[in-house]
Amino acid sequence: MENLIAKNKLILEKEAQETREQILSLSRNSQIGSNPEDESTESEIDSNTDPVEADLKTRLNLLKQALRRIADNTYGICLYCQKKISAERLRVFPEADSCVQCQAVART
Ligand SMILES: [Zn+2]
Repeated sequence: MENLIAKNKLILEKEAQETREQILSLSRNSQIGSNPEDESTESEIDSNTDPVEADLKTRLNLLKQALRRIADNTYGICLYCQKKISAERLRVFPEADSCVQCQAVART
């Protein structure tokens, strides 16, 4: 489990970085003159945001939350039932915040 968390941390950091770059390149194309280094734009989703950018921001938030859970030592624990998420699932979805059962309930 320890190795998996360490490994997933690297994956999550890399994906967060890539997602952030995609958001920046999108906003560079759509808003000429805005500051691409402005960190405050990434957590706020306003109604004018285009859907692709909104998706990327949602994803970035998931990745960040997963990284925060690693830092807090709550990573791999289901947010809904507090049971451990299987290592198999975390291998496929490093950003998973719920177990298979709760995910199924939440998505239907
Ligand atoms: Zn659960």
